[in-house]
Amino acid sequence: MILGDTIAAVSTARGKGGVALLRVSGDRAVEICERVFLPRNRKPLSDCPARTALYGSILAPDATGVWSEIDDGIATLFRAPASFTGEDTVEIACHGGILLTETVLAALIAAGARAAEAGEFTRRAFLNGKMGLSAAEALGNLLEAQTAEQLTLAHAGTDGRIEARCREIYDSLCAVLAAVYAKIDYPDEDLADMSREEMEAALSECVLRVEALRATYRTGHAIAEGIPTVICGKPNVGKSSLYNRILGRDAAIVTDIKGTTRDVLCDTAALGRVTLRLYDTAGLHETSDVVEQIGIDRARDAMERAELILAVFDGASEPDAEDEALAQALQNSNATVVAVVNKSDLGTRSEDFCRAHFAHTVMLSAGSGEGMERLQALVEERFASGELDTKNDAILTNARQKGAAEACLEALRNALNALRMGLPIELCCNDCESAMQAIGELDGRAVSEDIVSQIFSHFCVGK
Ligand code: GDP
Repeated sequence: MILGDTIAAVSTARGKGGVALLRVSGDRAVEICERVFLPRNRKPLSDCPARTALYGSILAPDATGVWSEIDDGIATLFRAPASFTGEDTVEIACHGGILLTETVLAALIAAGARAAEAGEFTRRAFLNGKMGLSAAEALGNLLEAQTAEQLTLAHAGTDGRIEARCREIYDSLCAVLAAVYAKIDYPDEDLADMSREEMEAALSECVLRVEALRATYRTGHAIAEGIPTVICGKPNVGKSSLYNRILGRDAAIVTDIKGTTRDVLCDTAALGRVTLRLYDTAGLHETSDVVEQIGIDRARDAMERAELILAVFDGASEPDAEDEALAQALQNSNATVVAVVNKSDLGTRSEDFCRAHFAHTVMLSAGSGEGMERLQALVEERFASGELDTKNDAILTNARQKGAAEACLEALRNALNALRMGLPIELCCNDCESAMQAIGELDGRAVSEDIVSQIFSHFCVGK
């Protein structure tokens, strides 16, 4: 990828629509668009003021290379650095036909642009200092959001609040490091701005701040990434009914015939604030049916990867050997296991059994929805902090950010130990540098090229 290139892409989704938007960004954006877009006022684009929208003709070459009008539309001009990417940018809105937008893109390429790679506009915005890495990740989440809470969190993150928090920590560390360097360079003179005690206090303060940031990941993960959640239980207890109830629609087939769900179904749904990546599984029991057995094996695999297991039992009948086997199998699960006594409208016969075997038991009726609020409250309490405000707080949302925060914490604790134990100041210096490196990875100022590429490859073309 060459940063100097001028790139172009269709930024709206592929498909027939009222309008489509193409974006062109780079040093030659205006010059290239002058060939493709002719303002109705006949002024060259380069003479038009920035941040204006111009109506005009859109031109493209035919098979013989002759350029002619193929559509009319609006071009909006942005001049560096006041654009999304920080470069000269032209946005062309044309009518939203599939062939039409492809023809306009081909015309832009014929005029000298290069087809943009996935996420390249946002990547340029990041590389040109228009946004931090965590803000870019939030933007990616905004495009992927499937629940209202995900949307709120992602939108809030695009303003760079994680970067702002990192900057504060970074600046404190800089001050400590400057004092450490002064002590190393002039051990006998008292040139440092901070005493050893003041350094300790500053580092302790950094530890608290990073710990607080690290702690937000529990909620950020639960909202942004979603909790892998498996619904399991013997046949006919109401697993598919619960799956549909949480999703709010009839996604899984519900019948009173055993073995209806044979494969693992998967969907994303909100349960209160928490996002569940929900798996409905085949009923666990002994079977000679080969297809059903494969489904049961897949159910067990899904259970091993789950962070939350909703083990469903039938409130209308006494627990039996199959329920007992399930309770035993879940005894040592790493996931949070919630026993759901379903069909509470018909009775709660499995309640005592569930209370005896599980730390969490909820009575509900997947059929009517009665009791769902108790399941929601329990899941929210386990996975999301009620104290965090998705609109206003800096919240870590992915494992990369959490990993960087943890690396920073470890380095900070080592630095603090070195100071407290009176070890040579050089040791503290190395650890402070590592902590700064980790904070730089978190907000993106010191992140490796590979990681940057990996993050932006998840974006769509045109973003
Ligand atoms: P699964 O095999 O465990 O997925 O169970 P289903 O969701 O297919 O449900 C089995 C049967 O139980 C169906 O006839 C459902 O209508 C019924 N059922 C599920 N939940 C409830 C409930 O809360 N109350 C009552 N009365 N029936 C339910």
